[in-house]
Amino acid sequence: MKRAVVVGAGFAGCAYAMPLRERGWSVTVIEKAGFIGGGVRTFFHGGHPYTYGPRHFLSPYPEAFDFLNKFVPLRHIKKINYTYLERDQAFYTYPIHEDDIAAMPDADIVWAELAARPEEAKAANFEEFWIQRVGSTLYGKYVRDYNRKAWMLKSNAEMDFGFESTVKRRPLESGERYEFKDWFNCYPIPQDGYNQFFDIALEGCDVRLDTTITAFDVHRSRVDIGSETLTYDLLVSTISPDVLLNYQYGELKYVGREFHKIVLPIEFALPQDVYFVYYPNASETHTRVVEYKKFTLHKSPSTLLGLEIPSLKNKLYPTLIKAEVEKAQRYLDALPGNVRSVGRMGVYRYIDIDDIIMQSLQFAKEL
Ligand SMILES: Cc1cc2nc3c(=O)[nH]c(=O)nc-3n(C[C@H](O)[C@H](O)[C@H](O)COP(=O)(O)OP(=O)(O)OC[C@H]3O[C@@H](n4cnc5c(N)ncnc54)[C@H](O)[C@@H]3O)c2cc1C
Repeated sequence: MKRAVVVGAGFAGCAYAMPLRERGWSVTVIEKAGFIGGGVRTFFHGGHPYTYGPRHFLSPYPEAFDFLNKFVPLRHIKKINYTYLERDQAFYTYPIHEDDIAAMPDADIVWAELAARPEEAKAANFEEFWIQRVGSTLYGKYVRDYNRKAWMLKSNAEMDFGFESTVKRRPLESGERYEFKDWFNCYPIPQDGYNQFFDIALEGCDVRLDTTITAFDVHRSRVDIGSETLTYDLLVSTISPDVLLNYQYGELKYVGREFHKIVLPIEFALPQDVYFVYYPNASETHTRVVEYKKFTLHKSPSTLLGLEIPSLKNKLYPTLIKAEVEKAQRYLDALPGNVRSVGRMGVYRYIDIDDIIMQSLQFAKEL
């Protein structure tokens, strides 16, 4: 029987462990935390279901929807996001909507900048990319300080790689304000979110919780957990690839989030259909507030808000700077053929739940 070791039992670890086990492999899953599901696991606070960040299913791929919907029935949502612009003393919708410009105190400047946008432009970094698309005033209001806060950068010009991938939507919307109208925009119907999927995916695997690999020897296909050595035919790793090669090219940079839970004694805090508020102002440390019952439909006279503050205390988002992306690529190129580095940290890209499903479906076909 072939042996696989999967490192990390987040969405990616579960999505890759499942096809291996289904094809008769012996699968050992090593998870540092005391639970499976990683960042997408649903927890409860005062009876309110929540995850760390919104984690809704948003995808253009029917295959990803069909796959997940088999395990966790998904409900379509019609969602609007607000952004709070302190300098305008106003909430507008996000993505930036043409109809909000008329209400802005500097509407004339904004329209003049929009009219002067280049037809075709090539941007060298995130800042240039956005100014070319929406002009410097809208960029300054909605994007500049948000992005600097979110990725803990001194200047957005530092973000010189893959910045297009951070903008899945058109920079300037018109018409209906619901986001991603043509996509699968969904959330699990069960109150425990995606948790059933994690249980099903890892059924029959040897899952070791609260466990960390103490030494990786990827060239000899073995890992140590204290005094125990595991050998494998395939290592599927969802953690940062620098760890697998003992940081030989230096540590890869990431940004994380502090997550705060706030319960308010009102049934709903945000207007109907508004699920998030983004905070793009330099005067606030937080980037986003999410009202969870909008997603979960939890019934309660109170409401739970999740507030996110960028932090270096955990690793969640790769830093999209060319030097870091190139460093990550050196690590990935140096891994032997029987190591698959997958998931958001493993590929060092902003991939979402649907991307992980698509990649794991491809992996299953290749097995
Ligand atoms: C705040 C936030 C909000 C998001 N919202 C959405 C969204 O709304 N929609 C969407 O599609 N995507 C969203 N994403 C992205 C998506 O959730 C992730 O791409 C996906 O969950 C990544 O899964 P993963 O398994 O790669 O990583 P993780 O969920 O981080 O899982 C990694 C697992 O590895 C474990 N681990 C770490 N180090 C070790 C170690 N040394 N040994 C053993 N185990 C270890 C961790 O404990 C964890 O369980 C969001 C991401 C973040 C950070």
